[in-house]
Amino acid sequence: MHDTATKPPLTIRLCQPRGFCAGVDRAIQIVVLALKKYGAPVYVRHEIVHNRYVVEGLQNLGAVFIEELNEIPDEHHDAPVVFSAHGVPKSVPADAQARNLFYLDATCPLVSKVHKQAMRHRRHGRHVLLIGHAGHPEVIGTMGQLDEGGVTLIETEADVQNFQPADPEALGFVTQTTLSVEDTAGILRALQERFPALQAPAAESICYATTNRQEAVKETAPGADLYLVVGAPNSSNSRRLVEVAERAGAKMSLLVQRASEIPWSGVGDIATLGLSAGASAPEIIVDEIINAFRERFDVTVELAVTATETEDFPVMRALRDVELTPADMAFVNGTR
Ligand code: SF4
Repeated sequence: MHDTATKPPLTIRLCQPRGFCAGVDRAIQIVVLALKKYGAPVYVRHEIVHNRYVVEGLQNLGAVFIEELNEIPDEHHDAPVVFSAHGVPKSVPADAQARNLFYLDATCPLVSKVHKQAMRHRRHGRHVLLIGHAGHPEVIGTMGQLDEGGVTLIETEADVQNFQPADPEALGFVTQTTLSVEDTAGILRALQERFPALQAPAAESICYATTNRQEAVKETAPGADLYLVVGAPNSSNSRRLVEVAERAGAKMSLLVQRASEIPWSGVGDIATLGLSAGASAPEIIVDEIINAFRERFDVTVELAVTATETEDFPVMRALRDVELTPADMAFVNGTR
């Protein structure tokens, strides 16, 4: 470790907005409230949000993470089960009902909106093109709102060229909420060129949090010697931020889950660091990373404010009578 006097100077361009979005905040709140109201265990189908720190924090409070409903043991049949923020195929609540389980759906309201838009296309007799990444739980959930054969996943511009519709006049699209704004625009242009009758959803599918976080990274990346995005490898929106930083002119851009993952030997002589966090990454890890840099550099933090977010999604009525302590609130907000 250096003395303050000998530490090299470093400017950290810190994005705002960054980190938790309203959908993630609500989903974590639902699990915490359910634990307080019904007691442990509370089962959670899939990682409630894609972040290990959050998942482990909830496990410590008594949440049990499962991938499928049949993992709930018979003796815990009465315990609530929460569906993750990414949304679930229709078959999942149907299965929960058939098993007589009590479920709480933490699907982000903006994902539910995309589900509704996709179903609306189908009601109007359109085949749905879902722009998104294969295997992501949100994509599985959105495809699972529709009849098999009523939806095609489009991941790339090559997929656009290979797609052969039964009726090119009856097509509608929706997208995953966490895509790259730029890549999606390219895919959409290709789709609209090939299928001029393609119908858009009534509302934009890429959500405000994705758009705002990408915009903030774009503003702060040019000329940054290194860009760090706090987030998990399975977090779609976080991975997109790493790509945006690189494209916008950061010399190197990396995804890190914790300060311990910063590859110090590769960091070298840097004067400017860009820093953001994906929508599922808690603020406490951003602090941890800034502190790790303070150990090695004489740090000046420059806050780059590119948007103000006021979105707040209320939890379901069944949980509104439960009070959260300041410590619970800090965990929900990502500061503990
Ligand atoms: S990233 Fe967007 S869609 Fe996903 S949980 Fe957050 S607000 Fe909802």
